[in-house]
Amino acid sequence: MSALPPNATIGIVGGGQLGRMSALAAARLGYRCHILSPEQDCPAALVSARHTLADYEDSNALRRFAGAVDVITFEFENVSAAGLELLASLVPVRPGPTVLRISQDRVAEKSFVNGLGIPTAPWRQVETPEELEQAVAALGLPAILKTTRLGYDGKGQAMLRSAEDYRAFSTLEPKPLILEGFVDFACEISVIVARNPQGEVTCFDPVENRHRHHILDLTLAPAPIAPETAATAVAIARAIAAGLDLVGLLAVEMFVTADNRVVVNEIAPRPHNSGHWTIDACPASQFEMHIRAVAGLPLPPARRHADAVMKNLVGPDEISQWPEILRTEGLIAHHYGKTEARPGRKMGHVTRLFPLGALPGPFGIADALGPVAPQA
Ligand code: AMP
Repeated sequence: MSALPPNATIGIVGGGQLGRMSALAAARLGYRCHILSPEQDCPAALVSARHTLADYEDSNALRRFAGAVDVITFEFENVSAAGLELLASLVPVRPGPTVLRISQDRVAEKSFVNGLGIPTAPWRQVETPEELEQAVAALGLPAILKTTRLGYDGKGQAMLRSAEDYRAFSTLEPKPLILEGFVDFACEISVIVARNPQGEVTCFDPVENRHRHHILDLTLAPAPIAPETAATAVAIARAIAAGLDLVGLLAVEMFVTADNRVVVNEIAPRPHNSGHWTIDACPASQFEMHIRAVAGLPLPPARRHADAVMKNLVGPDEISQWPEILRTEGLIAHHYGKTEARPGRKMGHVTRLFPLGALPGPFGIADALGPVAPQA
Protein backbone atom coordinates (compact mmCIF):
# COMPACT_ATOMS: atom_id res chain seq x y z
CA MET A 1 0.00 0.00 0.00
CA SER A 2 1.15 3.56 -0.57
CA ALA A 3 1.87 5.87 2.30
CA LEU A 4 -0.74 8.40 3.34
CA PRO A 5 0.32 11.79 1.87
CA PRO A 6 0.62 14.93 4.00
CA ASN A 7 -2.72 16.72 4.55
CA ALA A 8 -4.59 13.42 4.54
CA THR A 9 -7.01 12.94 7.44
CA ILE A 10 -6.62 10.31 10.13
CA GLY A 11 -9.78 9.42 12.03
CA ILE A 12 -9.26 8.59 15.69
CA VAL A 13 -11.97 6.80 17.64
CA GLY A 14 -11.83 8.09 21.21
CA GLY A 15 -11.10 11.53 22.58
CA GLY A 16 -8.80 11.09 25.57
CA GLN A 17 -5.17 11.97 26.17
CA LEU A 18 -3.90 9.07 24.04
CA GLY A 19 -5.81 10.54 21.09
CA ARG A 20 -4.58 14.00 21.96
CA MET A 21 -0.90 12.99 21.94
CA SER A 22 -1.42 10.92 18.76
CA ALA A 23 -3.03 13.95 17.09
CA LEU A 24 -0.12 16.17 18.13
CA ALA A 25 2.31 13.65 16.60
CA ALA A 26 0.15 13.44 13.45
CA ALA A 27 0.15 17.22 13.10
CA ARG A 28 3.95 17.23 13.10
CA LEU A 29 3.91 14.78 10.20
CA GLY A 30 1.50 17.02 8.25
CA TYR A 31 -1.72 15.08 8.86
CA ARG A 32 -5.08 16.30 10.07
CA CYS A 33 -6.99 14.41 12.71
CA HIS A 34 -10.71 13.91 13.04
CA ILE A 35 -11.89 12.68 16.44
CA LEU A 36 -14.97 10.59 17.11
CA SER A 37 -16.02 10.99 20.72
CA PRO A 38 -19.24 11.63 22.65
CA GLU A 39 -17.52 14.20 24.86
CA GLN A 40 -17.55 17.91 23.98
CA ASP A 41 -14.11 19.55 24.30
CA CYS A 42 -12.40 16.21 24.94
CA PRO A 43 -8.57 16.32 25.15
CA ALA A 44 -8.06 15.00 21.59
CA ALA A 45 -10.67 17.22 19.90
CA LEU A 46 -9.08 20.31 21.45
CA VAL A 47 -5.95 19.78 19.29
CA SER A 48 -7.55 18.28 16.16
CA ALA A 49 -9.01 19.68 12.94
CA ARG A 50 -12.43 18.08 13.30
CA HIS A 51 -14.63 16.40 15.87
CA THR A 52 -17.68 14.23 15.31
CA LEU A 53 -19.54 14.55 18.59
CA ALA A 54 -21.43 11.27 18.73
CA ASP A 55 -21.85 8.03 20.54
CA TYR A 56 -19.65 5.10 19.45
CA GLU A 57 -22.76 3.08 18.61
CA ASP A 58 -24.46 5.75 16.49
CA SER A 59 -24.28 4.10 13.06
CA ASN A 60 -25.24 7.25 11.14
CA ALA A 61 -22.47 9.18 12.86
CA LEU A 62 -20.01 6.30 12.25
CA ARG A 63 -20.86 6.42 8.53
CA ARG A 64 -20.40 10.20 8.38
CA PHE A 65 -17.11 9.92 10.26
CA ALA A 66 -15.78 7.17 7.96
CA GLY A 67 -16.78 9.24 4.92
CA ALA A 68 -14.69 12.15 6.10
CA VAL A 69 -11.36 10.38 6.82
CA ASP A 70 -8.68 8.43 4.90
CA VAL A 71 -7.85 5.85 7.57
CA ILE A 72 -9.20 5.10 11.04
CA THR A 73 -7.39 4.16 14.22
CA PHE A 74 -8.44 4.29 17.85
CA GLU A 75 -7.18 5.27 21.25
CA PHE A 76 -10.08 3.61 23.02
CA GLU A 77 -10.72 -0.11 22.77
CA ASN A 78 -14.26 -0.61 23.90
CA VAL A 79 -15.99 0.11 20.62
CA SER A 80 -18.58 -2.53 19.78
CA ALA A 81 -17.66 -5.21 17.26
CA ALA A 82 -20.63 -4.14 15.12
CA GLY A 83 -19.47 -0.53 15.10
CA LEU A 84 -15.99 -1.56 14.08
CA GLU A 85 -17.23 -3.84 11.32
CA LEU A 86 -19.26 -0.93 9.97
CA LEU A 87 -16.23 1.39 10.00
CA ALA A 88 -14.00 -1.29 8.45
CA SER A 89 -16.48 -1.81 5.60
CA LEU A 90 -16.05 1.84 4.62
CA VAL A 91 -12.39 2.75 5.21
CA PRO A 92 -9.19 0.97 6.38
CA VAL A 93 -9.25 0.50 10.17
CA ARG A 94 -5.81 -0.01 11.75
CA PRO A 95 -5.33 -2.12 13.80
CA GLY A 96 -8.15 -4.18 12.28
CA PRO A 97 -11.29 -5.43 13.99
CA THR A 98 -9.82 -8.89 14.69
CA VAL A 99 -7.03 -7.41 16.80
CA LEU A 100 -9.53 -5.36 18.74
CA ARG A 101 -11.84 -8.30 19.30
CA ILE A 102 -8.98 -10.31 20.79
CA SER A 103 -7.78 -7.53 23.07
CA GLN A 104 -11.30 -6.66 24.26
CA ASP A 105 -11.83 -10.05 25.83
CA ARG A 106 -9.45 -11.54 28.38
CA VAL A 107 -10.37 -15.10 27.43
CA ALA A 108 -9.78 -14.50 23.72
CA GLU A 109 -6.58 -12.61 24.57
CA LYS A 110 -5.12 -15.30 26.82
CA SER A 111 -6.14 -18.09 24.42
CA PHE A 112 -4.40 -16.24 21.60
CA VAL A 113 -1.23 -15.53 23.58
CA ASN A 114 -1.04 -19.12 24.92
CA GLY A 115 -1.66 -20.36 21.35
CA LEU A 116 1.60 -18.64 20.36
CA GLY A 117 3.36 -20.64 23.08
CA ILE A 118 3.70 -17.56 25.31
CA PRO A 119 2.93 -17.93 29.03
CA THR A 120 0.23 -16.02 30.93
CA ALA A 121 -1.02 -16.52 34.47
CA PRO A 122 -2.89 -19.83 34.62
CA TRP A 123 -6.60 -19.09 34.06
CA ARG A 124 -10.11 -20.53 33.79
CA GLN A 125 -13.25 -19.01 32.35
CA VAL A 126 -15.96 -18.78 35.01
CA GLU A 127 -19.66 -18.53 34.23
CA THR A 128 -21.30 -19.95 37.35
CA PRO A 129 -20.52 -20.16 41.11
CA GLU A 130 -19.81 -23.89 40.61
CA GLU A 131 -17.26 -23.11 37.92
CA LEU A 132 -15.65 -20.62 40.31
CA GLU A 133 -15.19 -23.37 42.90
CA GLN A 134 -13.75 -25.71 40.29
CA ALA A 135 -11.41 -22.98 39.06
CA VAL A 136 -10.18 -22.24 42.60
CA ALA A 137 -9.62 -25.96 43.13
CA ALA A 138 -7.46 -26.01 39.99
CA LEU A 139 -5.56 -22.75 40.45
CA GLY A 140 -5.44 -22.34 44.23
CA LEU A 141 -5.61 -19.14 46.28
CA PRO A 142 -4.87 -16.33 46.18
CA ALA A 143 -6.34 -15.74 42.76
CA ILE A 144 -7.83 -12.81 40.91
CA LEU A 145 -11.36 -12.84 39.58
CA LYS A 146 -11.83 -10.43 36.67
CA THR A 147 -14.48 -9.45 34.18
CA THR A 148 -13.45 -10.63 30.73
CA ARG A 149 -14.52 -7.34 29.17
CA LEU A 150 -14.53 -3.61 29.95
CA GLY A 151 -12.03 -3.64 32.84
CA TYR A 152 -9.35 -0.99 33.25
CA ASP A 153 -7.18 0.54 35.98
CA GLY A 154 -8.06 -2.28 38.38
CA LYS A 155 -11.80 -1.89 37.83
CA GLY A 156 -13.80 -5.08 37.30
CA GLN A 157 -11.57 -7.33 39.39
CA ALA A 158 -11.37 -8.78 42.88
CA MET A 159 -8.64 -10.57 44.78
CA LEU A 160 -9.81 -13.87 46.27
CA ARG A 161 -7.95 -14.92 49.40
CA SER A 162 -10.53 -17.17 51.04
CA ALA A 163 -13.96 -18.71 50.38
CA GLU A 164 -15.57 -15.56 51.82
CA ASP A 165 -14.29 -13.58 48.88
CA TYR A 166 -16.21 -15.75 46.40
CA ARG A 167 -19.15 -13.40 46.82
CA ALA A 168 -17.33 -11.07 44.41
CA PHE A 169 -18.75 -13.41 41.77
CA SER A 170 -22.17 -11.81 42.03
CA THR A 171 -20.95 -8.20 41.98
CA LEU A 172 -18.55 -8.39 39.04
CA GLU A 173 -20.32 -7.57 35.76
CA PRO A 174 -20.60 -8.25 32.91
CA LYS A 175 -20.28 -12.06 32.95
CA PRO A 176 -18.53 -14.30 32.01
CA LEU A 177 -15.60 -13.83 34.38
CA ILE A 178 -12.09 -15.20 34.35
CA LEU A 179 -10.13 -16.52 37.32
CA GLU A 180 -6.39 -15.97 37.13
CA GLY A 181 -3.81 -17.60 39.33
CA PHE A 182 -1.88 -14.99 41.33
CA VAL A 183 1.54 -14.25 39.84
CA ASP A 184 3.99 -13.38 42.60
CA PHE A 185 5.88 -10.93 40.42
CA ALA A 186 9.12 -9.10 41.17
CA CYS A 187 8.14 -6.29 38.84
CA GLU A 188 5.68 -5.29 36.15
CA ILE A 189 7.03 -4.28 32.76
CA SER A 190 5.68 -3.37 29.36
CA VAL A 191 6.95 -3.34 25.81
CA ILE A 192 5.52 -1.20 23.02
CA VAL A 193 5.85 -2.46 19.48
CA ALA A 194 4.81 -0.87 16.17
CA ARG A 195 4.23 -2.62 12.85
CA ASN A 196 3.33 -1.00 9.54
CA PRO A 197 1.41 -2.48 6.57
CA GLN A 198 4.72 -3.36 4.90
CA GLY A 199 5.54 -5.61 7.88
CA GLU A 200 8.34 -3.42 9.30
CA VAL A 201 8.51 -3.76 13.08
CA THR A 202 10.08 -1.54 15.70
CA CYS A 203 10.09 -2.07 19.43
CA PHE A 204 10.79 0.24 22.39
CA ASP A 205 12.87 -1.02 25.29
CA PRO A 206 11.03 -2.71 28.17
CA VAL A 207 10.08 -0.32 30.96
CA GLU A 208 9.09 -0.93 34.55
CA ASN A 209 5.65 0.21 35.68
CA ARG A 210 4.70 0.98 39.26
CA HIS A 211 1.08 1.42 40.22
CA ARG A 212 -0.71 3.27 43.00
CA HIS A 213 -4.33 2.43 43.79
CA HIS A 214 -4.34 0.27 40.62
CA ILE A 215 -3.43 3.23 38.42
CA LEU A 216 -0.05 3.63 36.75
CA ASP A 217 2.03 5.99 38.87
CA LEU A 218 5.60 5.72 37.60
CA THR A 219 7.34 4.34 34.53
CA LEU A 220 11.10 3.72 34.62
CA ALA A 221 12.84 3.55 31.25
CA PRO A 222 14.60 1.23 30.86
CA ALA A 223 13.28 -1.42 33.25
CA PRO A 224 16.03 -2.48 35.70
CA ILE A 225 15.99 -6.11 34.54
CA ALA A 226 18.65 -8.48 33.22
CA PRO A 227 19.47 -8.10 29.52
CA GLU A 228 18.25 -11.67 28.81
CA THR A 229 14.93 -10.90 30.51
CA ALA A 230 14.59 -7.73 28.43
CA ALA A 231 15.37 -9.72 25.28
CA THR A 232 12.69 -12.28 26.19
CA ALA A 233 10.14 -9.50 26.73
CA VAL A 234 10.96 -7.90 23.38
CA ALA A 235 10.75 -11.26 21.60
CA ILE A 236 7.32 -11.84 23.16
CA ALA A 237 6.03 -8.44 22.01
CA ARG A 238 7.34 -9.01 18.49
CA ALA A 239 5.79 -12.48 18.33
CA ILE A 240 2.41 -11.14 19.44
CA ALA A 241 2.53 -8.29 16.90
CA ALA A 242 3.42 -10.71 14.11
CA GLY A 243 0.85 -13.27 15.27
CA LEU A 244 -1.88 -10.62 15.18
CA ASP A 245 -0.72 -9.35 11.78
CA LEU A 246 -0.79 -6.01 13.58
CA VAL A 247 -0.87 -2.72 11.71
CA GLY A 248 -0.49 -0.01 14.32
CA LEU A 249 0.86 0.07 17.84
CA LEU A 250 0.59 -2.53 20.57
CA ALA A 251 1.53 -2.46 24.25
CA VAL A 252 2.21 -5.75 25.98
CA GLU A 253 2.04 -5.69 29.79
CA MET A 254 4.04 -8.43 31.47
CA PHE A 255 5.07 -9.68 34.89
CA VAL A 256 8.67 -10.61 35.67
CA THR A 257 8.95 -13.22 38.42
CA ALA A 258 11.76 -13.50 40.95
CA ASP A 259 13.31 -16.30 38.86
CA ASN A 260 13.19 -14.08 35.75
CA ARG A 261 10.27 -15.71 33.99
CA VAL A 262 8.27 -13.34 31.80
CA VAL A 263 4.49 -13.79 31.87
CA VAL A 264 2.06 -11.78 29.74
CA ASN A 265 -0.69 -9.96 31.67
CA GLU A 266 -2.54 -8.15 28.90
CA ILE A 267 -2.22 -6.46 25.55
CA ALA A 268 -3.53 -3.10 24.36
CA PRO A 269 -3.49 -2.36 20.61
CA ARG A 270 -3.02 1.40 21.00
CA PRO A 271 -0.63 3.90 22.57
CA HIS A 272 -0.14 3.14 26.23
CA ASN A 273 0.40 5.17 29.37
CA SER A 274 3.70 3.36 29.94
CA GLY A 275 5.01 4.84 26.66
CA HIS A 276 4.54 8.53 27.46
CA TRP A 277 8.22 8.89 28.32
CA THR A 278 9.05 8.28 24.63
CA ILE A 279 7.77 11.76 23.71
CA ASP A 280 10.75 13.29 25.46
CA ALA A 281 13.36 10.53 25.36
CA CYS A 282 13.11 9.21 21.78
CA PRO A 283 13.47 10.78 18.32
CA ALA A 284 10.12 9.20 17.39
CA SER A 285 7.68 8.70 20.27
CA GLN A 286 5.14 5.89 20.62
CA PHE A 287 2.55 8.35 19.27
CA GLU A 288 4.63 9.09 16.19
CA MET A 289 5.21 5.35 15.68
CA HIS A 290 1.46 4.82 16.00
CA ILE A 291 0.72 7.44 13.34
CA ARG A 292 3.57 6.24 11.10
CA ALA A 293 2.34 2.64 11.29
CA VAL A 294 -1.27 3.59 10.60
CA ALA A 295 -0.24 5.89 7.73
CA GLY A 296 2.06 3.33 6.14
CA LEU A 297 5.22 5.39 6.70
CA PRO A 298 8.64 3.84 7.41
CA LEU A 299 9.32 2.98 11.06
CA PRO A 300 12.64 4.24 12.41
CA PRO A 301 14.39 2.31 15.18
CA ALA A 302 12.60 2.91 18.50
CA ARG A 303 15.81 4.02 20.14
CA ARG A 304 16.03 6.27 23.17
CA HIS A 305 18.55 9.06 23.55
CA ALA A 306 18.05 9.29 27.31
CA ASP A 307 16.86 7.25 30.24
CA ALA A 308 13.62 8.55 31.70
CA VAL A 309 11.17 8.50 34.56
CA MET A 310 7.54 9.32 33.85
CA LYS A 311 5.18 10.26 36.66
CA ASN A 312 1.44 10.44 36.07
CA LEU A 313 -0.46 13.39 37.49
CA VAL A 314 -3.63 11.75 38.75
CA GLY A 315 -6.63 13.51 40.26
CA PRO A 316 -7.04 16.94 41.85
CA ASP A 317 -4.15 16.63 44.32
CA GLU A 318 -1.39 15.89 41.86
CA ILE A 319 -2.51 18.31 39.17
CA SER A 320 -2.76 21.02 41.85
CA GLN A 321 1.07 20.93 41.81
CA TRP A 322 1.03 22.24 38.21
CA PRO A 323 2.39 25.77 39.02
CA GLU A 324 5.17 24.19 41.10
CA ILE A 325 5.94 21.67 38.34
CA LEU A 326 6.30 24.50 35.82
CA ARG A 327 8.80 26.18 38.12
CA THR A 328 10.94 23.03 38.55
CA GLU A 329 13.92 22.83 36.27
CA GLY A 330 14.20 19.53 34.44
CA LEU A 331 10.57 18.45 34.75
CA ILE A 332 9.02 18.16 31.29
CA ALA A 333 5.36 18.97 31.83
CA HIS A 334 2.38 17.60 29.90
CA HIS A 335 -1.19 18.76 30.61
CA TYR A 336 -4.12 17.02 28.93
CA GLY A 337 -6.41 20.06 28.95
CA LYS A 338 -9.12 18.40 31.02
CA THR A 339 -11.18 20.97 32.88
CA GLU A 340 -12.46 18.76 35.69
CA ALA A 341 -10.02 16.95 37.99
CA ARG A 342 -11.88 14.00 39.48
CA PRO A 343 -10.11 11.54 41.83
CA GLY A 344 -8.36 8.84 39.80
CA ARG A 345 -8.55 10.84 36.55
CA LYS A 346 -5.31 11.15 34.56
CA MET A 347 -4.76 14.90 34.20
CA GLY A 348 -1.22 15.05 32.84
CA HIS A 349 2.25 13.66 33.36
CA VAL A 350 5.83 14.78 33.86
CA THR A 351 8.98 13.27 32.45
CA ARG A 352 12.48 13.62 33.77
CA LEU A 353 15.42 12.63 31.57
CA PHE A 354 18.76 11.15 32.67
CA PRO A 355 21.89 10.32 30.71
CA LEU A 356 21.81 6.83 29.17
CA GLY A 357 22.66 4.27 31.85
CA ALA A 358 22.24 6.79 34.69
CA LEU A 359 18.71 6.14 35.92
CA PRO A 360 18.92 6.80 39.67
CA GLY A 361 17.68 4.54 42.48
CA PRO A 362 14.46 5.18 44.42
CA PHE A 363 15.78 8.13 46.44
CA GLY A 364 17.27 9.77 43.37
CA ILE A 365 13.98 9.38 41.52
CA ALA A 366 11.99 10.93 44.35
CA ASP A 367 14.48 13.78 44.43
CA ALA A 368 14.29 14.28 40.69
CA LEU A 369 10.51 14.52 40.69
CA GLY A 370 10.52 17.37 43.24
CA PRO A 371 6.96 18.57 43.86
CA VAL A 372 5.41 15.33 42.60
CA ALA A 373 7.78 12.87 44.27
CA PRO A 374 6.00 9.56 44.84
CA GLN A 375 5.04 8.93 48.45
CA ALA A 376 6.96 6.16 50.17
P1 AMP B 1 -5.07 -5.72 34.82
O1 AMP B 1 -6.32 -4.93 34.79
O2 AMP B 1 -5.24 -7.11 34.34
O3 AMP B 1 -3.94 -5.01 34.12
O4 AMP B 1 -4.62 -5.80 36.35
C1 AMP B 1 -4.31 -4.65 37.10
C2 AMP B 1 -3.18 -4.94 38.07
O5 AMP B 1 -3.55 -6.00 38.96
C3 AMP B 1 -1.91 -5.42 37.39
O6 AMP B 1 -1.14 -4.34 36.93
C4 AMP B 1 -1.25 -6.20 38.52
O7 AMP B 1 -0.62 -5.32 39.43
C5 AMP B 1 -2.42 -6.84 39.23
N1 AMP B 1 -2.68 -8.18 38.65
C6 AMP B 1 -3.52 -8.46 37.63
N2 AMP B 1 -3.52 -9.78 37.33
C7 AMP B 1 -2.66 -10.37 38.20
C8 AMP B 1 -2.23 -11.71 38.42
N3 AMP B 1 -2.72 -12.74 37.70
N4 AMP B 1 -1.31 -11.93 39.38
C9 AMP B 1 -0.84 -10.91 40.14
N5 AMP B 1 -1.20 -9.62 40.00
C10 AMP B 1 -2.12 -9.33 39.04
